Amino acid sequence: MLCPVCRKPLIIVEYENVELDACPDCCGIWFDAQELQQLFEIAGIPRQYHDLEAHLDRLPRAGPRRICSRCRSKLIPVRAPSHPGNLILDECPNGHGLWFDKGELETLLKNLLGEQSEPLDNVRAYLGKFASPASQEEGKG
Ligand SMILES: [Zn+2]
Ligand SMILES: [Zn+2]
Repeated sequence: MLCPVCRKPLIIVEYENVELDACPDCCGIWFDAQELQQLFEIAGIPRQYHDLEAHLDRLPRAGPRRICSRCRSKLIPVRAPSHPGNLILDECPNGHGLWFDKGELETLLKNLLGEQSEPLDNVRAYLGKFASPASQEEGKG
């Protein structure tokens, strides 16, 4: 699979038994159809997944868009409830999954769970730079 944004090969990042595809370059994460729900279940917050899904707001397509790594359809922007500002994710119109740009997963979880929570800490610990916007570069610049 290629990154929808920079078209580089994605690498597998495992969280518990969920295998996510992440881009080593832009640090975005691709969730296949059930993987986001699995992540929420593993984190112990299945109810929040259903809340989220119920509040996702499909937006009109605008500008040059990313493409699905599976079917190459143009991804559709979806707005997730977020404060402050909007969190815009990208979803495959054919249901293959959802793309999070770098930091968007953490922003989403913070909005659902608050700044300090064990599920959020767990996800951060597993996904590291792919979950968090404040990533530390490997090695010295
Ligand atoms: Zn990328
Ligand atoms: Zn697709």
